[in-house]
Amino acid sequence: MTEKRLGMLIDLSLCIGCNACAVACKQENGVPLTKFNTWVESWDVNTGEQTRRANQPKLCNHCADAPCVKVCPTGASFRTEEGVVLVDEEKCIGCKYCMAACPFQARWVNDDTGEVGKCTFCYHRSSHGLLPACVSTCVTRARYFGDLNDPKSDIAKKVAEVGGEALYADLGLDPAVLYVGLSQVEGMPVTSAIHRGGNVVKPLEG
Ligand code: SF4
Ligand code: SF4
Ligand code: SF4
Repeated sequence: MTEKRLGMLIDLSLCIGCNACAVACKQENGVPLTKFNTWVESWDVNTGEQTRRANQPKLCNHCADAPCVKVCPTGASFRTEEGVVLVDEEKCIGCKYCMAACPFQARWVNDDTGEVGKCTFCYHRSSHGLLPACVSTCVTRARYFGDLNDPKSDIAKKVAEVGGEALYADLGLDPAVLYVGLSQVEGMPVTSAIHRGGNVVKPLEG
């Protein structure tokens, strides 16, 4: 039997940049105010005749070949049997190697406890067959979630129907977060201002 691979597909044509997903995630997972498991980058695209708003939600990509897992010196960062990348708080020593290794800036450090956090694919829900908070909250149903390896799942059917593109696919990390319409997006920023103030690796003090 094929191994389960939980994943997410985000249709960029449906995202309106309302940030309800980011708020729902914070509520569900107790993410500190200035840190983000998921965030939405928004920018203007000027076609000459009109200006429209482009939006791209981002989160941990739950990479199959995850550099954050490889560099973690204590085994705190690991992949579950469903392909979800998690952090074992008991084992995390706050060295931030994983944050530096992640090309997506998907991880953050808790300034109070020193532990590193990130999107868990709402494992406390998804491991029991429930949808993640960001998916069930999305007002336009831009996010699909489920087993990418199960041809009968909604997400696998959608990927088969319309395709799915990974962010920074050329890195070869095999992300489990895919987008519809990624290559059509123009002027995508590397990171947004709000995100730069949140999940970046800060130098050690002292
Ligand atoms: Fe986009 Fe849905 Fe998030 Fe709103 S809730 S920003 S529509 S992904
Ligand atoms: Fe690790 Fe970053 Fe990939 Fe998530 S997106 S699995 S934190 S390297
Ligand atoms: Fe947050 Fe859960 Fe969505 Fe990940 S899957 S961004 S933890 S709500």
